[in-house]
Amino acid sequence: MPVVSIAWLRDDLRTADNPALLAAAHGGGAAALYVLDEESPGIRPLGAAAKWWLHHALKTLREDLEALGIPLVLLRGPAGRVVPAFVQEAGAERIFWNRRYGGPEREVDTAVKERAAGADVQAESFQASLLHEPWTVRTGGGGPYRVFTPFWRTVSAMDFRAPLSAPERAAAPPAGIPAGENLADWNLLPLHPDWATGLAEAWTPGEEAGLSALSDFLAGPVQEYDDGRDRPAKPGTSRLSPYLRWGHVSPFQVWHELSRVRGNGPGPDVFGTEIGWREFCWHQLFHNPDLATKNLRPAFDGFPWEHPEGSGPQTPAILRGKGVPAPSESRPDELDALDALDAWKAGRTGIPLVDAGQRQLWSMGWMHNRVRMVAASFLIKNLGIHWRVGEEWFWETLVDADPASNPANWQWVAGSGADAAPFFRIFNPQTQAKRFDPDGAYIARWVPDALTPAYPEPLVDLKESRRHALEAYESIR
Ligand code: FAD
Repeated sequence: MPVVSIAWLRDDLRTADNPALLAAAHGGGAAALYVLDEESPGIRPLGAAAKWWLHHALKTLREDLEALGIPLVLLRGPAGRVVPAFVQEAGAERIFWNRRYGGPEREVDTAVKERAAGADVQAESFQASLLHEPWTVRTGGGGPYRVFTPFWRTVSAMDFRAPLSAPERAAAPPAGIPAGENLADWNLLPLHPDWATGLAEAWTPGEEAGLSALSDFLAGPVQEYDDGRDRPAKPGTSRLSPYLRWGHVSPFQVWHELSRVRGNGPGPDVFGTEIGWREFCWHQLFHNPDLATKNLRPAFDGFPWEHPEGSGPQTPAILRGKGVPAPSESRPDELDALDALDAWKAGRTGIPLVDAGQRQLWSMGWMHNRVRMVAASFLIKNLGIHWRVGEEWFWETLVDADPASNPANWQWVAGSGADAAPFFRIFNPQTQAKRFDPDGAYIARWVPDALTPAYPEPLVDLKESRRHALEAYESIR
């Protein structure tokens, strides 16, 4: 059978609960397409850790799809051009995809739909990555939600569809598929040096690993999640974020499975609310496409940052090629914002909880949520560095970095975002460590040098820098 239908996969790298794949497979002759698009205007190029994840995810996905008789074709280039050309070359009659919610992505998808219509090709899109469609959920006044609680009250009361099965195995893969590119030629993996060994130890990208992370979590830790989620030393959270980010697991699957374990205590409900925060971040991105670059609260445009922005996500010299930060040189008398930024990135600030988080991030491409908040607050408020600078570093180093959750959370910590923590709520990393890492196990795991002479003195005095931050904030109130 020739290629009849194409499933254009993007952030939905899974076979189950994938409406676009299911539609394409219906009737046979289906091929799947993935396009690495680093050229369409406005689409944010992936960070280094995300590229590592994508490589392994595509490798696994190809095998999973082959087992269903669906070949996966890889192409690179601006999707608005590449996708219609592939459809034409393959002679396909239909193309399906699951919706994306970023502004530039939607522009590309609209253009592809228009090209398809002009070529008499059926194009259809589906809801698969969010429980709610951001344009369907509005406040009483008709606008988008800016406050989480009423947003989630509305969304969580909606009926969500049950997850869909994976397509049935096709009798044979379609014939005459145009050749794609080799994954290895995309150079997504770091080679010289290979800094990703910690990532490989921590994670197995792909659908199977994602679904087992979900079932492991729901089989136990979810019941204590209301407290366990704040204990960075323990595996108290689901670690589903990269699996949700890449769509190995869908929110419908999570919600459906979660409903089976509800009712025994607050843990599952609190966990459901965190899924709600993910929805809220995407709601914000849909309604504010420039979330990563623009303060949602314009008052912050005039904030007197010590270090504004623009340095980009460069890897500090002491991290390059090492993976483990080297002992620092002596502490500069005058704090230079760029040196401070490098120290923060390298986990050499002299503040153990912040350093533990930053080293966890560098090592495994992930950081515990509690510590993300503390590390971000320290950068923004104690070091006076613009939230965008920190957001760019997380974008580069997180395996779960996504264009909604990352900027929305950075704006939340900064106080410039929707329903954000007020700026004057400045986390004290020492108090946070005492409260959430009471026996010091998390710090001991990531900063074993904390009690040695080689460990740096604190970069800043916490009280003094806090006072300075509050003064700066007064100037924009
Ligand atoms: P769990 O506690 O098990 O939560 C389950 C799921 O809920 C997560 O996998 C995630 O999909 C969602 N979730 C939980 N908290 C949040 C939140 N605050 N915002 C959005 N979704 C949430 N999360 C990302 O997925 N991508 C990011 O790029 C990202 N950047 C962040 C940057 C900062 C500065 C901060 C403070 C938080 C950021 N988060 C981000 C949110 C949160 O830290 C992670 O989702 C969480 O730590 C992932 O671990 P988990 O899967 O074990 O979470």
